Amino acid sequence: MADTCVFCRIAAGELPARVVYRDDQAVAFHDLNPQAPVHVLVVPLDHHVDLSTAEPPLLGHLLHLCAALAAELGLEEGHRVVVNTGVDGGQTVGHLHLHLMGGRFMRWPPG
Ligand code: AMP
Ligand code: ZN
Repeated sequence: MADTCVFCRIAAGELPARVVYRDDQAVAFHDLNPQAPVHVLVVPLDHHVDLSTAEPPLLGHLLHLCAALAAELGLEEGHRVVVNTGVDGGQTVGHLHLHLMGGRFMRWPPG
């Protein structure tokens, strides 16, 4: 765990979050600044800066969780899963996370 990493600290229960799901590999919680009626972050417990260091089984688990949570959170009409990466990708928190968003029509391209 990185002591200064906000998502490591949420994963460890040291910082508050509106957690909707937790297992031995990942935690999912509502985004503090939601961009859609449903905006949940799916976050591995282990610290990975981005996709580049995460192994395929973990990545598969995270994607599978997005699909399961989309169903659980009532996003039957559709949803979007986004992984912002690096400066050009608009990543602001340096701990891998998947944005699961829905509850409204998601425009494309996002800008
Ligand atoms: P990104 O720009 O892809 O790195 O996304 C980071 C996301 O984390 C943003 O949507 C923030 O609103 C969200 N965020 C930052 N800090 C927290 C926090 N403490 N709890 C919940 N969401 C957060
Ligand atoms: Zn971290």
